[in-house]
Formats: sequence, C-alpha cells, structure tokens
Amino acid sequence: MNNRLRKITIVGGGTAGWMTALILDMVFSRTSAPKDRPRICLIESPNIATVGVGEATVPRMPVTLRQAGISERDFFRETNASFKLGVKFCNWNKDAKGNRIDYVNPFAHGQLLEGLEAAEYFLRFGNGDRDFTQSISPHDDLARLCKGGRPLGQPEFEQRFGYAYHLDAVKFAGMLTKVCTKRGVEHIQDEVQAVELDEQGNVSHLMLARKGRHDIEMVIDCTGFRGLIINKALGEPFMDYSDYLPNDRAMALQIEHPDPEKIESVTRSTALGAGWTWRVPLYNRVGTGYVYSSAHRTDDQAADEYLEWLGDSGKGLTPRVIPMRIGRVRNAWVKNCLAIGLSGGFIEPLESTAIHMVDHAVRWFAEHLPTRDIEPSLRARYNRQMNKMYDEVLDFICLHYRLGNRTDDQYWIDARTEMKIPDRLAENLELWQHRLPMEHDIEFATLFNFRVYQTVLLGKQVYDTGYGTGIRDRLRPLKKPIWFQWWKGAKVDLAQILKAMPDHKTLLRDI
Ligand code: FAD
Repeated sequence: MNNRLRKITIVGGGTAGWMTALILDMVFSRTSAPKDRPRICLIESPNIATVGVGEATVPRMPVTLRQAGISERDFFRETNASFKLGVKFCNWNKDAKGNRIDYVNPFAHGQLLEGLEAAEYFLRFGNGDRDFTQSISPHDDLARLCKGGRPLGQPEFEQRFGYAYHLDAVKFAGMLTKVCTKRGVEHIQDEVQAVELDEQGNVSHLMLARKGRHDIEMVIDCTGFRGLIINKALGEPFMDYSDYLPNDRAMALQIEHPDPEKIESVTRSTALGAGWTWRVPLYNRVGTGYVYSSAHRTDDQAADEYLEWLGDSGKGLTPRVIPMRIGRVRNAWVKNCLAIGLSGGFIEPLESTAIHMVDHAVRWFAEHLPTRDIEPSLRARYNRQMNKMYDEVLDFICLHYRLGNRTDDQYWIDARTEMKIPDRLAENLELWQHRLPMEHDIEFATLFNFRVYQTVLLGKQVYDTGYGTGIRDRLRPLKKPIWFQWWKGAKVDLAQILKAMPDHKTLLRDI
C-alpha cells in the first residue's frame, strides 16, 4: 500500500513557517509529480504577532532565493533589502595599547598561499596598518565606503565575492505568503487552541478556534518561543544554554538613516555595558537592538544605555523588550512533530544564524522525508544532525565572549570567566594558543569553518594581547616574499574592485 505522506501542516506564519513552506514546496516540485507531492498547509494565528526581528542573513539566503525561483529584484523591492558583506564587530576587544578594535568578519575566507594558510603569513609578517580582513578581502573597504555587493548591471545573484542581505522581517514573511499561496500552499488564518494526541503519542488533530478539528499526518511547529506543540503538547524538554551564554533579553527600535545616501553594507555589532547592539541598515530605515543580560541590567537600565548609544536617532522612542529563550529542545523531531525556528531553539543573534538554521532544518527534513509511519532511524539521524548544528553555532558564539578582553564592566568579566564553554571549544582554545585553527579542528561546519575562526582570532588580535603568547616563535618557517608578492597582486585587484563597485544606495536604487 502507498504509505506516502499526503499532507504536511505547518503551524506559524513567521519567517520560520513561511521559509519552511517555501523550501518544502521547492523541493517537492523538483522531485515529484503533483499527484505524488504532500499538500502543504500553513496555519497562522491572526491574533499572535510574529517576533518581528531577525533581519540580517548569511550567504545561504541568495542561494535559497535563486533555487526557489524568486527574483532578486522582487525580493529587494518587496522587503526593502540591502546588501550585507559581513559583520563589523566594534569595541569587543582592546588592542595591546588599550585602544578599541573594530574588525569585520566578512563573507570571505583566507586562502592557501603555496600550500600554507594566508593567516599564518599574516600572523608572522603582518601587513602594515591593514588588519587580517582588510588583507584578504575587499569587504571591509567596501563597507567603509558604503559600497554595494556587486557591480551595476550584473545579472541577479552573480557574486564576485560573498554577500548576504538585510531585510525587513515582516515584509519578508508577507512576500513569502504571496509566493507560497500562489504556488498552492493552503493558508489558514486561525488559532490553534488545543492539540490532540493518539494512543502512540502522535499528534492526531489540532483544534482551531474557527474551523474546528484539523487532521494531522505530519506537523511542523513554527510557533516561535511558545513551542506550542513540541514543548507544551509533547513535553519535549528544553535544554537551557544560560550556563554558556549570559544574554537573555533584547530590546529593539527602528530608526531613520542618519544620512539616507550612505547605507553601510555590513551589520554592526557594538559591545555595550552588558551585551551588544545590532545595527542593520535597510534601504529605507535602520533596525537596531540591544541584546543584554538581565543578571547585569534591569530593563530600565538597559533602555537608558541603549538610548544613550542611539543618541539623537532614539529621542522620544520607547524600545520594545523581547525576552529570549536561549537553548534548544532536546530533540527537534519528536513523534510526527518537527520544531523549526524559535520553537526548536535559539542562540543569540550575534552572527545572524537563525534563518540559516531554519533553511538547513527544512532541507534536511526533506532528505529524511518520512512515510506516514515514521522510521525511528530517520528521526534519530535528523535530530543528531540538528543538534550538531546547534553545537556549531554555540561554540562559535561562545568564542566571542571567551576571547573578549574588556574589563570595564562586571558583565564582560563574567562573560569571559564565569560562563561555561563546550568541551570541543575548550580543547580547540587550548590548541590554538600554539597554532592557528586548521582544517580538521572543526568537525561539523555548515557556516563556521576553521577559516572563520582564524578571522575572529586575528580580528580580535588575541595573539598580541595575552592569549597564545609566543605563537609566532612556533610558526612554521615561512618565506616573507611569498606573502608580500601575493599582497602586491591583491592590492591591485582591490583597487580595481573598489573602483568598479557602485555606491550601495545607487545600486539599491538601480535594483
Ligand atoms: P515567530 O516570528 O514568533 O512566529 C511565530 C508564529 O506562530 C506567528 O505567526 C504566530 O501567529 C504563530 N502562532 C503562535 N501560536 C499560535 C497558535 N496557537 N495558533 C496559530 N499560530 C500560532 N535571525 C537571523 O537569522 N538573523 C538575525 O539577525 C536575527 N536577529 C534576531 C534578534 C532577536 C532579538 C531575536 C529574538 C531573534 C533574532 N533572529 C535572527 C531570529 C529570527 O527572528 C527568527 O529565527 C525568525 O524570525 C523565525 O521566527 P519564528 O517564525 O520561529 O517565530
């Protein structure tokens, strides 16, 4: 008997819900005839708002839009998007003289020069007053000049070097709603009031406020921090990460561009007293927020600090406070329910990873797509893979705090010394005092491979400020001319790129 899934129900119409619908539809329409595809149905409460933040992405997003057949032009127009070339970390660390360090973690990597890592050459010989990112990629220079992600007139999605987007989260969900419903996703605006389980503990029905009973074969819980089905109905435990990460609250405000002609092409993350602020410049406005620790600041204290940082742009505005549940569910896939997005877990947004994780979660689910009686081995493998992705992100975020060197607030001292770090990261940090991160140090990487770690270590200038003292004496023998010869060529390329790339605002207007 044909035991294929006939229907998948998604509950939740935030970024996670609609991205899930988009990617599932994309995969099904490529792989199967219409009669063999499960129907996709998305239920969204008209009364419960989405979290409304989450506006910075990583380079997976252009790939997904292209694969899903969404034109970049439509996307930019509908979501007021802008280009993002990386994250600029401001004032997270002090240099050897006590001055603030600002560095970009770009969507670009170091490379091999004569078989050895560019990062090794940089560490040994430096590059005048240019930092590591500025030596290996044009991203920092482009961002400083408020230049965009590609030349004018270039075909959509064509990337000479890596970019992602900033987008308006509410408009993005709106755009996906239109695209998905046009492609046949059923959209039900109703509220789930109760979840019914069968004798095996599978979700059998949802009780909707208006439409009544809704049958379930497979349900995807995208209900945000509520975790309506995965936590509340199925009781899957939540693994809290507060021993690792201090920040449990955020506040957000949208402000006007101080100069609408100058749109920076990076997300800024600026360290503040008890956390850090984000600054996400869109075409028409700037999204900002403060991610902080409630153990170190009350909401009022945090608001004062945040508004002071915003200066004139924040005058007369009241920030919206967002409590954050930091951690993940023990298993994202339980019985016939899969949790995707904030219901499955959330690690603070320092590296804009949540939408990227949603993207992977849906694609992996499609690879493991079950029949109506779900094979436990499929579910087990999926859960292991998802948990590894959480580990990947957790390690990388913990790195930023553990290797911070600010002492001006108890928060930064606690974040560095009182917070736990995962054993994997502890082992690597021991090792990297003696050599730079190398290929096999990171066992599972959807985003943060060893070269991204190199960028952060060198960006923070940790080898000049107390960590891994003496590493330069232990580096392999390197030939200085190889590095400077390479840089001579790279400098010419850089000059050409800077000349060829348009002003960001001009490019966005053109799109
Ligand atoms: P939500 O947006 O909360 O949506 C939940 C949906 O469930 C809503 O549609 C609601 O109506 C529905 N719902 C709830 N209960 C019911 C019910 N009973 N019946 C029917 N429907 C129901 N991610 C990034 O990738 N980059 C970032 O820069 C970034 N920054 C962030 C900053 C902060 C402060 C926070 C908190 C998150 C950030 N994220 C970021 C994460 C990102 O916002 C989320 O991953 C993304 O928005 C997905 O949210 P969601 O769809 O899971 O949940």
